[in-house]
Amino acid sequence: MQITLTEVGPRDGLQNERRSVSIEQKIELITRVAAAGIRRFEATSFVSPRAVPALSDAEDVLRGIPQREKLILEALVPNMRGAERAAQVGLDEWVCFASASESHSQANSNTNTDEALNRLIPVIRLAEEQGVTAVGAIATSFGCPFEGEVPAARVVEVARRMADMGIKTVKLGDTIGTAAPSQVTRLIDAVRTTLPDITIVLHFHNTRGMSLTNVQAGIAAGIDRYESALGGVGGCPFAPGATGNVASEDLVHFLHLEGHQTGVDLTRLIEAGHWFETLLDRQLPAHLLRAKPVGEIYNTAK
Ligand code: ZN
Repeated sequence: MQITLTEVGPRDGLQNERRSVSIEQKIELITRVAAAGIRRFEATSFVSPRAVPALSDAEDVLRGIPQREKLILEALVPNMRGAERAAQVGLDEWVCFASASESHSQANSNTNTDEALNRLIPVIRLAEEQGVTAVGAIATSFGCPFEGEVPAARVVEVARRMADMGIKTVKLGDTIGTAAPSQVTRLIDAVRTTLPDITIVLHFHNTRGMSLTNVQAGIAAGIDRYESALGGVGGCPFAPGATGNVASEDLVHFLHLEGHQTGVDLTRLIEAGHWFETLLDRQLPAHLLRAKPVGEIYNTAK
């Protein structure tokens, strides 16, 4: 299967990073991952700079990306203030998010899910006026740090509200890494039953080591879009314990071994991961930054 990956390291990864990363370094992160063949980026977020100071340079990062016409650039746009900023920088897609669980919505967006969805209506209208695609993202689609397992019906309801607003793609986020494969299968089935035409993107965190098995469940269900972060960085500042997105290196390695196509040069991606480790000055969780790809072992162990 041809798989499309979105690199979310510049947003999900860096929003929680203690070490401050400069505008130039963020641009270099995107450039290096793009050189390895990933074309889609969740590049930054237009949340309030007070809430997430690490991403307050959103405009400068987006404007500084070389050859950006070759990339598909997405950014989180949570409200009209963010939308007015995003409208100035020519993004391809605005990611409009809401949480499936009320407690996470209060912690993350300072309001309940219903009101968070209502706030998206003018944002999506502005996106349309700008000729930008609005996509939906549903945080805590599987589990909530405050409420436990999130019922699929809740997620379907949020997705349906988004679809009613004109959204055609929804990202299902396993914000705290609690999803298991059978739950992934059930949720995909539930969303498709209500919204057969919606495009589903899966976003897993590897908090408990289950991200690749969840990807496998997604693949088995025919989902061809996944999000990952270089090195396995990532986490949500408002979701305790939400560490590490699935690592882009590990995901590409896994997909290639399983016979899928990504258009990504794994060797260059791993090189980018090592550069990122040096930049952040810590060991990152990606397995492929420690172990050689399976294909390389077989080639050298003659
Ligand atoms: Zn995430």
